[in-house]
Amino acid sequence: MRALISVTDKTGIEDLAKGLSDLGVEIVSTGGTYKKIKESGVEAIEIDEITNFPEILEGRVKTLSPYVHGGILYKRDEDSHVATVKEHNIKPIDIVVVNLYEFQKALEKGNPEDIIENIDIGGPSMVRSAAKNHKDVLIVTDPDDYDELLERIKNDDLDLSYRQNLAMKAYNLTAFYDSVIARYFSELTGEEGKYKTYGFEKESELRYGENPGQEAALYNDPFVKGLMENMEVIHGKEMSYNNYNDLNPALELAQELGENAVVALKHQSPCGVAQRQSVYESYIKAYECDSQSIFGGIVSVNGIVDEKTAEEMNKIFLEIIAARDFTDEALEVLTQKKNVRLVKINFDNQTVKEEIRYLNGKVLIQGKDFGEDEVEIVTDKKPTEAEIKDLLFAQKVVKYVKSNAIVVAKDMQTLGCGAGQQSRIWALESIKDHFKDRDFTGAAMGSDAFFPFPDTVELAHEMGISSIIQPGGSIKDQDSIDKCNEYEMSMVFGKSRHFKH
Ligand code: 5GP
Repeated sequence: MRALISVTDKTGIEDLAKGLSDLGVEIVSTGGTYKKIKESGVEAIEIDEITNFPEILEGRVKTLSPYVHGGILYKRDEDSHVATVKEHNIKPIDIVVVNLYEFQKALEKGNPEDIIENIDIGGPSMVRSAAKNHKDVLIVTDPDDYDELLERIKNDDLDLSYRQNLAMKAYNLTAFYDSVIARYFSELTGEEGKYKTYGFEKESELRYGENPGQEAALYNDPFVKGLMENMEVIHGKEMSYNNYNDLNPALELAQELGENAVVALKHQSPCGVAQRQSVYESYIKAYECDSQSIFGGIVSVNGIVDEKTAEEMNKIFLEIIAARDFTDEALEVLTQKKNVRLVKINFDNQTVKEEIRYLNGKVLIQGKDFGEDEVEIVTDKKPTEAEIKDLLFAQKVVKYVKSNAIVVAKDMQTLGCGAGQQSRIWALESIKDHFKDRDFTGAAMGSDAFFPFPDTVELAHEMGISSIIQPGGSIKDQDSIDKCNEYEMSMVFGKSRHFKH
């Protein structure tokens, strides 16, 4: 047997070469790989001896030769193929070990010339040729698979399912590789081709999905240094599907609000949010909003958790506490609980621009819902500066609450998050009903979308709420505005609707 080895990531290559050589496999190799193999004391043939052609164009052309591709692609059991390779003196290549130029690393470094040079041409060509002819050729693209390859050659255990598995991995690699390149050009041109390419890398298998019995895995998007990039789980159990899924909006909202913001979140919707002078104060206020629902929830802190805050947090069970950092004293307190997951997050990372949702045979992709702080006052009464602050705060929070959503807030603390109601008025009613003894006097109210009827304004007035933010857009807008004027409440229109379905 003959193996062609051409790898950029040279991990494990000496052992592989030695192993193959010991099994009587002849080794052919390209420039850098050849050098490395020779240095380790294993015999190898340089590629140009096979191609009868030197590597040219600074390595752009080294294995793109009929002597290489013919040797890989001919069908061993087809007489005409065998005759052709014989006629042209093409030697068989039975094992191809290739991994590709590190395009992603070049992307990270950002030098445009270097990025183009790191588009591997010959490598993917060999990978694809060998995978196509997998019945006759073994294609290995992952250093983790070297040991098994040696073992199977030794035991002559090279059945079709193994070969198909290698081919699957090979095309997975080239498909991912090209999708990253395609996305690079999309970013450059600002255009998308016919095919939206993502190229996600599998990061880890998850124990199960939303429920036991649903398979799930976590993938990484190599183009986005998002909030979860380099997140560190420093204590507690492994992150689950629901943990990741719920942590995400908690992080995004805390990031959007800014320093010292604390978000308590349960089942996709915030249940208590505050942004005060200190993390401690914010946590107390977020907790007080709904001291029942926060139990078993996720708390995200755009700041550093200190001992005092940790002691408060430790009084209840939380699934996750995610923060910029934790002081040593805080860690001592929090790590007393075995199960709470403590996660360090870099809130300075960018946030994503797109959201993807998989449907039954279709995929929906949309830009992220970025809000703006512009408001238009539509009532006779103007909101005070403090009310404007609370209105904008309520609007930011309501964007993260499942529709139909209403958020009531005062002094940068939510007093109620009404989530996921089929009717808008029920979202506010749920706040009123859950927090019966709460004083809502002078609070601000945010709605994810317009009021089809003035009943929500009426209920708000009844509760003592004094200002309202909503996007407007109903044919009955004027009815709600009239009601506000009648009750001497202020109302502003935000810039856009914030459905979250
Ligand atoms: P080496 O370090 O052995 O000189 O180069 C190994 C790398 O070269 C591998 O990652 C392989 O994919 C790539 N490669 C092999 N043949 C060709 C070719 O003909 N053109 C280009 N551009 N890359 C090649």
